[in-house]
Amino acid sequence: MAAEYGALNMSQGFPDFDPPKALRTAVFDAMNQGKNQYAPMAGDGDLRAWIAGETESQTGRSYDVTHEITVGAGASSLLFASIQAFVGPAEEVIVLSPAYDLYQPAVELAGGTLVVVPLNATDYHLDLQAIKAALSPSTRMLILNFPNNPTGSCWSMDDLDGLSALLDNTDVIVVSDEVYGPLQHDGRKALSVCHHAALSQRALIAASFGKILHATGWKIGYLLGPSELMHEVRKVHQYDVFSTGAPIQSGIAAFLNSPEGKDHLIGLPSLYQNKRDRLLQGLAGSPWKWRPAEAGFFQVLDYGQFDERDDRTVVQAWCRKGAEDGIALIPLSPFYPTGIPEGHPTHRIRVCFAKNDNTLDEAIRRLLIISNPVS
Ligand code: PMP
Repeated sequence: MAAEYGALNMSQGFPDFDPPKALRTAVFDAMNQGKNQYAPMAGDGDLRAWIAGETESQTGRSYDVTHEITVGAGASSLLFASIQAFVGPAEEVIVLSPAYDLYQPAVELAGGTLVVVPLNATDYHLDLQAIKAALSPSTRMLILNFPNNPTGSCWSMDDLDGLSALLDNTDVIVVSDEVYGPLQHDGRKALSVCHHAALSQRALIAASFGKILHATGWKIGYLLGPSELMHEVRKVHQYDVFSTGAPIQSGIAAFLNSPEGKDHLIGLPSLYQNKRDRLLQGLAGSPWKWRPAEAGFFQVLDYGQFDERDDRTVVQAWCRKGAEDGIALIPLSPFYPTGIPEGHPTHRIRVCFAKNDNTLDEAIRRLLIISNPVS
């Protein structure tokens, strides 16, 4: 609809700026150095070595380069492969809502049954009591996503301790989608299931180079997990994706091992926090309401103060305003596979703030027109 109506597209999660020049050069160099044939099924060796080193230095957890790290076509392909590898008919998969849209169809395709448990209605953190109530002897998998898309909420070590205690004496597999992990705001330290000794033993953890290198179109991501779990995932990966973007993987490894690559990663949190702050400062004093996103590049905004219509209706109306004042946003209700539960907030939309300053400023202008149509 954004393209059809010429509206400013603040909806999907991708930057409107390019990956670093040194990275683009490294990929170009890899092509010119002949890295143009199939990469190994598990991923480029240099890239897996970088992933192992970075994970160990950030979390203290070591993953074996040969058996416990797999590179795929974005985090998506590996999340999908993980679900297909372990979920079968009559098995239940717990998903926490609001949830990224990939999990439900992947579980249904595997023949599994989705069990939706809402996050806490106030801050979108874990509701351990609700998860406890949803666990059953048929629970095969629990899918986590933090920093969360769409809400930007991030959980704590206490949450992970509580979760781990709930899963003691079960054989539930945890799939943790952590693609926004490094994009932390307000000085928060990135937390991963890798940090948790017990949970990490039963977990497959997905990450995405697209999100951290401003290169979502390259579709390179990776999965970490104990070898006995990874062995099963690779049986699916072998036949759905097998091997992906050899020169891109090689170029990413060269870039991340270079001084420019190290600086890039160090600068990520402030880059995105500044964008979030620019957006929220621009809306300060308006009838839009929010809790600042804790991480990631999405901000949820509440429009309940000035418009009573449901979220799908308003985003379509605001998009149809067209090239001059139109803006494309994502309603929150589609992130609830079984609908927004009783007592949970409605009238919310998601904005992607992974945008250049002039795009953000234009988005602010249009959002202010929406909230104050007479000005
Ligand atoms: N998980 C979440 C929560 C996401 O938001 C996205 C991208 N929108 C993905 C996974 C997909 O990542 P990739 O592009 O690496 O497949």
